Amino acid sequence: MVTVRDSESEVKSCQIGDQTGTIQLSLWDGQIDRVQLGKTYMFTNLSTRSFNGKTTLTTTRNTTIIHSSTTITLPNTSNTNDFDTQTNTLTQTVEGSTITIKKLCPKCHSTQQSINIKDNFHRCTTCKILRKQSSYITKCNGALIFKIGEDELSLAIPNSVLTKFIHKEKDMTFLDAQDIEEYLLTCGPVSVNYTNDNHIVEIKKAICETELTSEEAPELEQELCSITDAVSLPSTSIKTNPGEKRPAAPETIDPKQTQPLKD
Ligand SMILES: [Zn+2]
Repeated sequence: MVTVRDSESEVKSCQIGDQTGTIQLSLWDGQIDRVQLGKTYMFTNLSTRSFNGKTTLTTTRNTTIIHSSTTITLPNTSNTNDFDTQTNTLTQTVEGSTITIKKLCPKCHSTQQSINIKDNFHRCTTCKILRKQSSYITKCNGALIFKIGEDELSLAIPNSVLTKFIHKEKDMTFLDAQDIEEYLLTCGPVSVNYTNDNHIVEIKKAICETELTSEEAPELEQELCSITDAVSLPSTSIKTNPGEKRPAAPETIDPKQTQPLKD
């Protein structure tokens, strides 16, 4: 909250971006609720501000904000790079979670109203094209609850952060909201980075995984097995002269019997 000309105004900063880069945008009052993290908008009549050599954007009285269904690929920048805001860190197991999941058609981008996430195929409810479930764009966000002493802290988690976290461990295609919620509750302690207004900017597992060794072991054993097989092959090709009796066992071969060819 800030006071401008004797009236209280609410201002909130966010990062916006297009193909060319990202910049900080200050949203004022009623405009704050007009935008959501991870969505695309067309802004008009923004104004620039310059402070300490850094240029930022701000909304004005005449700013219009129109939601757009196009997806913009942002340049490869880290989420936290340009953040002025101080972030807090917390390492704990998740106490509770509430996640909503949306599936968007990759062609017409419409949100699928009736979709069975466990099905292999789905027909878009708008453009009527049948596609593999994995072709649909998954958007999921919500909140994570952490216990801080007697209190509970609710942190909002946007789609970009949650997707990145789940993707490392699981294929999102057939997960429904409760699958994700259950995973968050059972994945062990997590380390979260969150802003002062309780938005998670990064989440990762607090404990390093050591499962690699047990996964590598069987493969190594199999490789040893195949080498042993190859070594034992030549012993089956002991030559015996035709008409002669095959020796009972290789170690009883009489040297005289194997040498006549040389004379
Ligand atoms: Zn469609």
